[in-house]
Amino acid sequence: MLSLRHNQDFIEPKISKYMIPAEKVAHVQIGNSLEHALLVLTKSGYSAIPVLDARFRLHGLISSAMITESLLGLERIEFEKLADKKVEDVMLVKIPKITLEENLETAIDLLINHPFLCVEDSEGFFEGIFTRRILLKELKHHIINQ
Ligand code: AMP
Repeated sequence: MLSLRHNQDFIEPKISKYMIPAEKVAHVQIGNSLEHALLVLTKSGYSAIPVLDARFRLHGLISSAMITESLLGLERIEFEKLADKKVEDVMLVKIPKITLEENLETAIDLLINHPFLCVEDSEGFFEGIFTRRILLKELKHHIINQ
């Protein structure tokens, strides 16, 4: 049976080995309108993306569903509000995240319930994301090459 605890070469590498680096991650910034966020989400095809500030510190996550929800009126979706509302008005602040120092087991635990985790350094600066897809690819690679 596969025991991860006995597979140190899979479990030991740092989170940075597995993550998608910040420069390759689609994101929006604090102060951006919901219209801009919806554009980035739609164009990128991702269901949720990180919200950063100008210094690349991590503040939250925003998704198309959060945006639509915030535009719901009594009888219709009030699209005219898209340009006025800001990402910080609707973003999720309590997000699944890990630091660069944390180990893979912590990441695996969180990835059971979340499709991706944001990775930050000890000062809260955004370093990248770690996705369920990457984890499964690495696991498959590891199992096949055992
Ligand atoms: P995946 O496992 O590749 O399907 O990604 C799962 C989720 O992670 C996506 O729906 C996005 O929310 C997020 N994600 C993955 N890659 C990126 C990226 N390059 N930029 C922004 N978000 C991403």
